[in-house]
Amino acid sequence: SKSLQSKELESLEEKYPTLYGELYEIKNNLELHYKDMQDLEFTIENQKLWMLQTRNGKRNGVSAIKIAFDLKEDGIIDEQEVLNRISSDHLNEIMLPIIDVNEERQADVITRGLPAGPGGATGQIVFSADDAEKWHADGKEVILVRRETSPEDVHGMYAASGILTSRGGMTSHAALVARGWGKCCIVGCADLLINYSNKTVVINNNTYNEGDWLTLNGSLGNVYDKKLSLVMNDLNSNPLFENTMNLSDKYKGLGVRANADTEKDALNARELGAQGIGLCRTEHMFFSPNRILSMRKMIVATTLEERQNALDELLPHQKNDFYGILKAMAPYPVTIRLLDPPLHEFLPQTDKHIMELADELNVKKDKIHQIIEDLYETNPMLGHRGCRLGVTYPEITKMQAQAIFSATKQLIKEGLKPYPEIMIPLIGTEKEFVHQKEVIQSVYNSMNFEMEHKIGTMIELPRACLVADKIAKHAEFFSFGTNDLTQTTFGYSRDDVGGFIYDYFNKSILPNDPFESIDVDGVGSLVGLAVKKGRKENDNLKIGICGEH
Ligand code: PEP
Ligand code: MG
Repeated sequence: SKSLQSKELESLEEKYPTLYGELYEIKNNLELHYKDMQDLEFTIENQKLWMLQTRNGKRNGVSAIKIAFDLKEDGIIDEQEVLNRISSDHLNEIMLPIIDVNEERQADVITRGLPAGPGGATGQIVFSADDAEKWHADGKEVILVRRETSPEDVHGMYAASGILTSRGGMTSHAALVARGWGKCCIVGCADLLINYSNKTVVINNNTYNEGDWLTLNGSLGNVYDKKLSLVMNDLNSNPLFENTMNLSDKYKGLGVRANADTEKDALNARELGAQGIGLCRTEHMFFSPNRILSMRKMIVATTLEERQNALDELLPHQKNDFYGILKAMAPYPVTIRLLDPPLHEFLPQTDKHIMELADELNVKKDKIHQIIEDLYETNPMLGHRGCRLGVTYPEITKMQAQAIFSATKQLIKEGLKPYPEIMIPLIGTEKEFVHQKEVIQSVYNSMNFEMEHKIGTMIELPRACLVADKIAKHAEFFSFGTNDLTQTTFGYSRDDVGGFIYDYFNKSILPNDPFESIDVDGVGSLVGLAVKKGRKENDNLKIGICGEH
């Protein structure tokens, strides 16, 4: 192929046309034989060509995709083989900025973490979300370094070029949020010793200060302590992405939807070809400055009336959110997951925020402290979250259903075809599902307006898999939440797995991270069982997966 014609090869062709012809023919034969681009080693001695070695040539993402399509053009491989030759990492490489290969080769890796958000990023170290936002506003590129992130950090994560955390696994908060945006992120990097008050991080005995440069390779999990150049492909001028997507559509057995919880992300996903949203996490919507206070009022409410007042403040915001997202995707479906995380995640953590809430509610600071203490849970991931919130406080489910249906109604009146699918999280028993479904249906019935919609559930607990037939009697769809299902099947905390997973790799106890690549034997068996039981009970059950797998 032309790309092989370096200067040396050209001069070989001029000086020794016969040898060149011989080499060219052997190359063609080998490429035809192996049906792939070859990395050949040869030598010429006394005017005789000796072939020393051949192997499939290494390539980056752009080249991998281009070579696969070229081989198809030449009739060497078929369309399905083109798809087999392209991995998701190759696509990431053409969609995201990556570190210049030559510079990276010469740089030393100072530490490694879990490759939670692919691509490359370079920037100056900051230690708080607020600083990330400020520095970014001043035109600086920053890497946000945290022990872990929480929903309160989202504004700074957005502003940062990359995110680096010392704790967490492939489905921790930082990982999910970063990946959703296509942002570079490394988590569970246990070598980091972060000191927030001094604004320093010690990595293997070297101290780095705020403002020092780091570069992250989020595809490999490598960290470098210098500024490396990034290379960005332009998708618009490069048909490789579109060609790959078109070919995938032709042979797909499974549709692809996006993870998106803002209108902007929904529009972007749609533009890139997503045919719906498979997971819209509603909790991310409550953190913007004009909502968090209402959310906090809702949580600390001690009477139904107080809670209802706070929910009434949140309703118009939620309706707006759903309006934008459903509109961006119409007529494709949007699976909206009802509120899922433990409520304490929304509580104020700093003195300033605690005072603000106390002032707003006209109560003493101590009362807020008391409520925060009362809401403390030893195992929040197994605590008062998911549908358990909706069972205790049906008014939360009701408000969300109202927001979804009124946005849908408005869009229908505007001539669009919105399609919400309401997904109830963390169901473990049939009765939980029935309870929540009834709340949603009563809101729907009260609207007296026909709207196409579905009510279904996430299957993310082993018990839900075991009683899937019972749940399927009432549910119109299942979406496997394989993040929580992996967490609860293995009993590994998804937020703490970074602490021991490397030992499991090194000692060959696990072949790979089960939060990244599904555990076929264990989690897969449960999924298989649930599909079988669910379909046996309900022929029309729609089934999908919304975990990070
Ligand atoms: C899951 O558990 O797989 C899931 C998609 O939900 P979340 O990650 O928000 O818990
Ligand atoms: Mg979950």
